[in-house]
Amino acid sequence: MVDLAVARKRLLEQQRETLSSISDLGGNIDAIVSARQDSNNDDEHDPEGATLAFERSQSDALLRQAEQRLQDIDAALSRVKRRTYGMCVVCGKPIAAARLAARPYASTCIACAG
Ligand SMILES: [Zn+2]
Repeated sequence: MVDLAVARKRLLEQQRETLSSISDLGGNIDAIVSARQDSNNDDEHDPEGATLAFERSQSDALLRQAEQRLQDIDAALSRVKRRTYGMCVVCGKPIAAARLAARPYASTCIACAG
């Protein structure tokens, strides 16, 4: 049986970490955007501009991942509240403890995730 108090604590920790990495990534994106504005060059003909564009898209991808993670964590926290945490949202069976240990925000069992 899942200990909801422990699960909630772990989710809140992950939520804090995810929020801080989103704020870090946001800061990176701002720095990259202002570097691009300062350089005032055409991306296609300027190697430095192309590098900045690449860094920007990497940061965007990481940011999207972090935002998705945050939504997963929020959903898991509401399952803790409803006392359905640890149950697969698809088949209703318990999610394996090892899976929850690796991904406390997992919403499905391994069978349903695959
Ligand atoms: Zn399932």
